[in-house]
Amino acid sequence: KRDHVDVEQLDDAVAELDLKDGAYKDFTDLPLSSATKAGLKAAHFSMMTDIQAKAIPIALKGHDILGAAKTGSGKTLAFLIPVLENLHRLQHIGADAGLGALIISPTRELAIQIFDVLRRIGKHGHMFAAGLVIGGKSLEAEREALTRMNILVATPGRILQHLSQTAAFNVDDLKMLVLDEADRILDMGFQRDVDAILDYLPKERQTMLFSATQSSKVSDLARLSLHEPEYVSVHAED
Ligand code: ADP
Ligand code: MG
Repeated sequence: KRDHVDVEQLDDAVAELDLKDGAYKDFTDLPLSSATKAGLKAAHFSMMTDIQAKAIPIALKGHDILGAAKTGSGKTLAFLIPVLENLHRLQHIGADAGLGALIISPTRELAIQIFDVLRRIGKHGHMFAAGLVIGGKSLEAEREALTRMNILVATPGRILQHLSQTAAFNVDDLKMLVLDEADRILDMGFQRDVDAILDYLPKERQTMLFSATQSSKVSDLARLSLHEPEYVSVHAED
């Protein structure tokens, strides 16, 4: 099968990735699926931002990441591209595959923004089922769709509600967890929710945690959620 060959070639190329700083400048320098490449091209993304150039090669190789970068530095693609690519290479696709990636965002607005970027990049050939879980609709309405999703973008309280109340929501095969704006998640008082969410998720997974600021709470969460993370930080420019 063509997909199979594609995936094997990508696996080989990812294994060969050079993790030296500055090794890659453009998205086209990276071993990405044709679907992701087409999505990036259609959105006119060509040169990577600093955080993307540093984080994406490491994340493609499956390492956990503790990332620090200011608002506007391009963190969304720094985690969405590895999510799409790592699930693609695992062929974690289709209703029976279950949830492969969970992206947690502090607010509904930010979750919607992430979902919009995911849709924009993902709609040129990827076959993942992706959804937003941010409340606003009835639990019942979300519940049915939830069980068929491969990628979810969610706020902490709402996803925890489903993890504790939706029996058919299977996260046993989750491959990736993203905690975006971890400092804000904690500032907004979601620490206990996130701790409870972590208890539901398989321990063997890849986790990417991004935060604009460092604090002892963020360090605590990093200790609890990450396994031998690579530290990726970008300093303010100009
Ligand atoms: P952050 O999450 O770090 O605040 P975003 O991911 O929201 O940053 O990106 C900020 C802005 O930069 C967005 O408008 C996004 O479209 C744009 N952007 C991200 N990556 C690139 C890139 N490689 N090239 C050009 N623009 C980019
Ligand atoms: Mg962001």
